[in-house]
Amino acid sequence: MSKLAIMGGTPVLFETPPPFNTIRADEVTAAAEVVASGMMSGYIATSGEGFDGGPAAQKLERQWEEKFSIDHAIAINSATSGLVAAMGAIGISPGDEVIVPPYTMSATVIAPLAYGGIPVFVDIDPDTYCFAAGDVAAAITPSTRAIVAVNLFGLPAELIELRALADKHGIHLIEDNAQAPLARQNGRLAGTIGHIGIFSLNRHKHIQTGEGGICVTSDPELALRLRLIRNHGEVAVEDFGIDDITNLIGFNLRITEMAAAVGSVQLGRATDIIDETVRYAERLSDGLRGLDGFAPPHVPEDRIHVYYSWAGRYDEAKTGVPRQLFAKALQAEGFNAYEAYVQPLYMLPTFQRRRAIGRDGFPFTLTDRIYGPGLCPNCESLYERELLGYPICAYTLSEEIVEKLIEAFHKVHAERDALAAMHHKASAA
Ligand SMILES: *Cc1c(COP(=O)(O)O)cnc(C)c1O
Repeated sequence: MSKLAIMGGTPVLFETPPPFNTIRADEVTAAAEVVASGMMSGYIATSGEGFDGGPAAQKLERQWEEKFSIDHAIAINSATSGLVAAMGAIGISPGDEVIVPPYTMSATVIAPLAYGGIPVFVDIDPDTYCFAAGDVAAAITPSTRAIVAVNLFGLPAELIELRALADKHGIHLIEDNAQAPLARQNGRLAGTIGHIGIFSLNRHKHIQTGEGGICVTSDPELALRLRLIRNHGEVAVEDFGIDDITNLIGFNLRITEMAAAVGSVQLGRATDIIDETVRYAERLSDGLRGLDGFAPPHVPEDRIHVYYSWAGRYDEAKTGVPRQLFAKALQAEGFNAYEAYVQPLYMLPTFQRRRAIGRDGFPFTLTDRIYGPGLCPNCESLYERELLGYPICAYTLSEEIVEKLIEAFHKVHAERDALAAMHHKASAA
């Protein structure tokens, strides 16, 4: 094969594909109509008309309910807000344990802290990058009140098993489904298997409104509690005849009419957008299967992956090249590989310094759990050595670009001995 770009050769792709952008004229029109109307938000902080926002916000919710075949969709201003609201709605109280994975966006593990909950980390499965129901079962204690499953990179966790486990213990399963709209396990939609599912409409996700999110639930009581937390619950609890007012104090987590209007149009396109993403990701996997020292994303038989990210596993022992150098060589060819994703989240200062709410270390003062290296070895290994992926939702791809990406990876892989030699020479110098 030809000389690697990192060694002065010609790159396979001359330019980075354009940023992912599915906003079209219809979204522009929808947003413009809202702006022209002057009614940029329909929410009012009372139990009356306006409690659930304006026409665009309510339309988005009804449309979401239909698309995901679920009784209640609650629009919010981000998935982060949704995660916090979910912790509030299920009544998380100081000292309650909430099981979370260490490999996710930080908001997943920070949300329980907002109500004094204690995040308990359960290691991920090295093949799926989601935690396994069996490992979660082993971590349940009398203090456990909830499990937050993350459908990471677009692959559902073992949701059906986790829901059965949660029900058996009388606790809640919350799904952080920010990365996996329209993913499935056994035909069932991710986000709708837990007691509450949370979707993101952030600009970096499959479908977007800039900032935004949706909570879904089939439980009418949880739906009402989420709506109260979204919109200054304290002023409305009496009107709704709520007896248990736990955690129903006021926030403003409301979505704007403009974002909601854009969200409706994006939701109408969701199947097409996601199908295309999946097609490119599957082609990438097929083109890169069977290479010594690299495995494309693993998809268990009972699941449909929607590839927010395409993340494979790299084995330095087999290629002889450190991951970082392999990734650099890929990047030089125009394959914008990423390594590591996030550090194991228990390494964040919040956990290392045990400080979240107030100056005295609450709620860590309520637990003697230790957060430190070695807590989740599979996650640490992925972070330090193994994860190697392509941010498939970050670029506007085409069939031709995907073929080039495959070619670039093969080129670097074929020249791994030359890369290893370059590495040894650099280390010896
Ligand atoms: C993006 C993301 C979030 C946060 O979503 P926002 O809408 O940006 O708040 C939470 N969890 C996961 C897994 C995410 O990928």
